Amino acid sequence: VASKKKTKSKESNFEIGLLDTDKGVVTRFPPEPSGYLHIGHAKAAMLNQYFAEHYKGKLIIRFDDTNPTKEKQEFQDSIVKDLELLGIKGDVITYTSDHFDALYEKAIDLIQLGKAYCDDTIQEQMRTERMNGVASARRERTVEENLRIFGEMAKSSEEGVKNCLRAKMSVDNPNKAMRDPVIYRCNPEKHHRTGDKYKIYPTYDFACPIVDSIEGVTHALRTIEYRDRNPQYWWFLEALGLRKVHVWDFSRLNFIKTVLSKRKLAWFVEQGLVTGWDDPRFPTVRGIRRRGLTIEALKQFILSQGPSKNVVNLDWTIIWAFNKKVIDPVAPRHTALLDQGLLTAKLIGGPDTPVTEDKPKHAKNPEVGQKKVVMGNTVLIEQADAKTFKEGEEITLMGWGNAFVTKIARPDAEGDVTELELTLHLEGDFKKTEKKVTWLAKDQNLVDVELVDFDYLITKDKIEDDEDIKDFINKSTMFTEKAIADCNIADVKEDDILQFERKGYYRCDQPAKDGKPAVFFCIPTGKVGK
Ligand code: ATP
Ligand code: MG
Ligand code: MG
Repeated sequence: VASKKKTKSKESNFEIGLLDTDKGVVTRFPPEPSGYLHIGHAKAAMLNQYFAEHYKGKLIIRFDDTNPTKEKQEFQDSIVKDLELLGIKGDVITYTSDHFDALYEKAIDLIQLGKAYCDDTIQEQMRTERMNGVASARRERTVEENLRIFGEMAKSSEEGVKNCLRAKMSVDNPNKAMRDPVIYRCNPEKHHRTGDKYKIYPTYDFACPIVDSIEGVTHALRTIEYRDRNPQYWWFLEALGLRKVHVWDFSRLNFIKTVLSKRKLAWFVEQGLVTGWDDPRFPTVRGIRRRGLTIEALKQFILSQGPSKNVVNLDWTIIWAFNKKVIDPVAPRHTALLDQGLLTAKLIGGPDTPVTEDKPKHAKNPEVGQKKVVMGNTVLIEQADAKTFKEGEEITLMGWGNAFVTKIARPDAEGDVTELELTLHLEGDFKKTEKKVTWLAKDQNLVDVELVDFDYLITKDKIEDDEDIKDFINKSTMFTEKAIADCNIADVKEDDILQFERKGYYRCDQPAKDGKPAVFFCIPTGKVGK
């Protein structure tokens, strides 16, 4: 008798109500090594780990490698690394391919039970028959005939390759997943682990319940779109007399203007529309990290999602808002000014010989450390700020003090400021000024930087099944601005996250090196439109 336990965990919104948990919980995360992990996989992996930990059970990481056409060692290796990065530690790593012999035996068992048959109906016709609930002409082949042809399939003989093996479930069940699904097919390609040892491979639908059962999985967490396939999952276990597994559905993670299918992501890579699987515009674990998402924020976001089974199209602003809360208290503050129209202003009262002072990198958090601030009698100001100045006005040079605008020349009222003179007024109250501007003393080792921002790769919130992604490719998705930054930026390392004041948060993708500018990626903050 199943015992029902319900506990509400404090650290997340997940209401946990697993069955039979007193017998020990075993969950599994089964990625197919056909691409890099994306944020949806991260959710599935974290959920499985969360359940395993909560019930002091076990987590299996299983490579679901049943299709050599799509799978590669490169993908498998990257998944191992990314799981490590996410802090997902399986108790064991397994491979569906380790069970190929056992699965083959189970297929033979099904044939002998009269519950599977070989079918050489051409694909198109098979699809139509399934759609219309019509039986295949091969459905009543004898056990002997099926065993013989399945043997031919295993050899990939001329007769064998024309066939696939189907489970004899139903011809016209209203649930189309139950209409004699294909469970084995030939594939001549080399498998990345088993090489050319096998010429037939089980389908996911067949392998999954059997391997779950063999490996001792007690609770299979599956995304909600598999719900129609739950009855066939149980059918296989029952037909083969295998131990039952509980299925627990959770909602698939989707984001607006975002592709979360490995097949489609692979297409973007192949077309050269991105720089690779770790492109900062990609929803892969590597891509979002390059864009500046912290693992901590990712975890908080996923746990906040709760047990909802509704499939919704989330906005990225939600996740970036979590990230901002993580990075804001620790991101050092620096200054960068856009090259475009940069103005050199004379600063009366500024030291003739530049003075360098140590100042906190973060006003509210001394632990972030100190930076050098150079002060001199010539300062650089952004044109956009200078254009707002009026002669006689008192402004604040952030992190230094107030100054009066003592001279400003703007010959063309619509054009650039051509000359600017400021006079330092350190007694002035910065609380009373309206304009607080960023500035840099000219006389320091300024660092050339590139500030890069990105847009979504596609132009439509949700691409429907009957729509072609090619019609919704965003043509312009990367925007680079040249800027100069304070001397401390020379020491910034790859992956460092900082704030350029009045500009935003950035992650260093490439430090300054060999005369090339440092490259910084803008980190969205969760504000709409950013
Ligand atoms: P994709 O279409 O990206 O290849 P998949 O489900 O075919 O997705 P798998 O490698 O088989 O990819 O997925 C491993 C696990 O991750 C499965 O349990 C799957 O349900 C889960 N998963 C995949 N995409 C999402 C998503 N968007 N949200 C939540 N879980 C997901
Ligand atoms: Mg899959
Ligand atoms: Mg898929």
